[in-house]
Amino acid sequence: MNPDRARILKEGRGERGPVVYWMSRDQRAEENWALAFAQELASKRGSPLAVIFSLTENFLGATARQYGFMLRGLEEVEEALAEKKIPFALLRGDPGETVSGFAEEHGVGAVVTDFSPLAAKRSWSETVMQRLEIPIYEVDAHNIVPCWRASPKQEYAARTFRPKIRRMLPEFCDELPRLKVHPIPWDLGEGVDWDRIRRAIDVDRSVPEVDWIAPGERAARKALRRFLDEKLSAYDGERNDPSLQGQSDLSPYLHFGMISAARVALEAAGRDADPTSRAAFLEELVVRRELSENFCFYNPGYDSFAAFPDWAKKTLDDHRDDPREYLYDQKELEAAETHDDLWNAAQMEMVLRGKMHGYMRMYWAKKILEWTESPEEAQRIAIYLNDRYELDGRDPNGYVGIAWSIGGVHDRAWGERAIFGKVRYMSRKGAKSKFDVRSYVERVASWS
Ligand SMILES: Cc1cc2nc3c(=O)[nH]c(=O)nc-3n(C[C@H](O)[C@H](O)[C@H](O)COP(=O)(O)OP(=O)(O)OC[C@H]3O[C@@H](n4cnc5c(N)ncnc54)[C@H](O)[C@@H]3O)c2cc1C
Repeated sequence: MNPDRARILKEGRGERGPVVYWMSRDQRAEENWALAFAQELASKRGSPLAVIFSLTENFLGATARQYGFMLRGLEEVEEALAEKKIPFALLRGDPGETVSGFAEEHGVGAVVTDFSPLAAKRSWSETVMQRLEIPIYEVDAHNIVPCWRASPKQEYAARTFRPKIRRMLPEFCDELPRLKVHPIPWDLGEGVDWDRIRRAIDVDRSVPEVDWIAPGERAARKALRRFLDEKLSAYDGERNDPSLQGQSDLSPYLHFGMISAARVALEAAGRDADPTSRAAFLEELVVRRELSENFCFYNPGYDSFAAFPDWAKKTLDDHRDDPREYLYDQKELEAAETHDDLWNAAQMEMVLRGKMHGYMRMYWAKKILEWTESPEEAQRIAIYLNDRYELDGRDPNGYVGIAWSIGGVHDRAWGERAIFGKVRYMSRKGAKSKFDVRSYVERVASWS
């Protein structure tokens, strides 16, 4: 493994004791750099190895939909680890507390965790670092180029980030790691009673699970193969047409780390497919996705108005008091009760399917800006709805997608107009000229 994928969060003391991989964001057994690093460390020390996951309930507005998807994926992780003689423990409660409590109780000698640029994980890691005196490592198992290496600062736009990440890709396109049978046993007792956990957790059950997408590593690899075989070559022409289904549908898997982005990129790059489509897909998967990570990593206010670029804040301020032709509150928007059937269809696609089409996400968020009292309110409602219904919610891509739509993040200034100021505008007329709006609206209506 390229050693730059890992960094030490705390030097600590402790040459003895088992090694623990605190799995958080990269919920897979195979091709997981953080787990591979932990296994190597444990092997070098002649120590046992375990994987722990700490389950927080009511996490940032997540519902039974996202919990169900995640828990089924974790169940598969436990099985895959058992085949390699690595025990898995599911802890319940605030991870800062439970992870350090577990380490203290079991005399753990080192903790390895995966990287996330988001506030919750960073604050849990802080607590673990304060409580424990042992070495704590962080490995970026989510990005192809580790976020802290891709750029030392917040990037202005894709055009400034692209050359940097492209330059570094060869250095980080090494062969993905395979998990080995761990030779030193560690008995952590009975496995997890998943049915009991599913019944016991305190989550909002009013947003149900969806059945069109199966969770877990195996399903993720199958979805990747299907996309590469059937859709990659047409991606450039079809991905922006919501009446077709030209996207990969990989975002829920990528979000929960059920598949490695590096695996997806390697397979796509190696395919004999239409070159324009292949390049367009890799641009989204690598440049755009890792640009979102860069934004959240270097800008802790990523989910606030303060994170918008100065030109956008000024222009949105200038147009704060512009009259709104339509004004909706959160409840009306959530119930898809607007005058615009295209917007309502997008909202219902998310509510019913748990994944709104990518093109519609931009239109959807921009209309929330147009129809609510302020940009702050628009951003708050968009994040609330996105994170409540989308399977891939609570992701850097979501915070950045919303900030792009409402606050011009990673975009440039456009012609000035009411409410939006110089932030890019999108209209229903524009959508109609791009795709068959009727067919999209009818398809969504057929699901309810
Ligand atoms: C308002 C708004 C909200 C969004 N919310 C989320 C969210 O909560 N979670 C999320 O993962 N994405 C979000 N996106 C980004 C994008 O729309 C989704 O990643 C994409 O639609 C997921 O579907 P897919 O995997 O089938 O995409 P594909 O088109 O097949 O793309 C493959 C992968 O490339 C990456 N990607 C694609 N488009 C983008 C983009 N615009 N920015 C960054 N990475 C991209 C994703 O990792 C995606 O899985 C949002 C965008 C907007 C405008």
